[in-house]
Amino acid sequence: MNNEFIATLVHDIPDFPKKGIVFKDISPLLASAKARSITTELLVRDFRAQTIDVVVGIESRGFLFGMLLADALQAKFVMLRKPGKLPGKLATQEYDLEYGTDTLEVQESAISPGDNVLIHDDVLATGGTAFAAAQLVEKIGGTVAGFNFVIELDFLKGRDLLNKYPITSVLHY
Ligand code: AMP
Repeated sequence: MNNEFIATLVHDIPDFPKKGIVFKDISPLLASAKARSITTELLVRDFRAQTIDVVVGIESRGFLFGMLLADALQAKFVMLRKPGKLPGKLATQEYDLEYGTDTLEVQESAISPGDNVLIHDDVLATGGTAFAAAQLVEKIGGTVAGFNFVIELDFLKGRDLLNKYPITSVLHY
């Protein structure tokens, strides 16, 4: 099956970037044109029946498929970035990490009130990043149509935090 083919191109890297974390390396998947196109289709198919005005990609691996999804859905592509990267008038959202906090930023004019927004990232882990992304999109008037991820780490229960939105993940671990 397609998902099994994609799964062979996601490599587990134990103890990276620190001890106890199994890093999901999507580099082999990105390297394959066939895998990119299958993954893109699996990511968008649940969202084709509705109008998606904007695909938002979360820095930085969310930009990779994010742009391909925007092409597939004929939507605008918008970056959510870490502080200090975007020029102009910005909206910001702080969120908690295991130790400390982080912030996501977006250009305020990038999303118009009422736009239907699909939020994309490579991995759904605890859901903190994705939830902050939704708060940021809603802060500037966007409507969150749903989320999609290449990989969902089911055991971290990130889905529980996003339970009022539709979620599609290509691979589950
Ligand atoms: P979280 O906020 O816990 O859902 O973390 C999601 C963010 O961390 C995503 O942007 C992922 O790219 C990254 N991430 C978390 N866990 C992993 C992992 N095991 N392998 C690769 N990336 C990860």
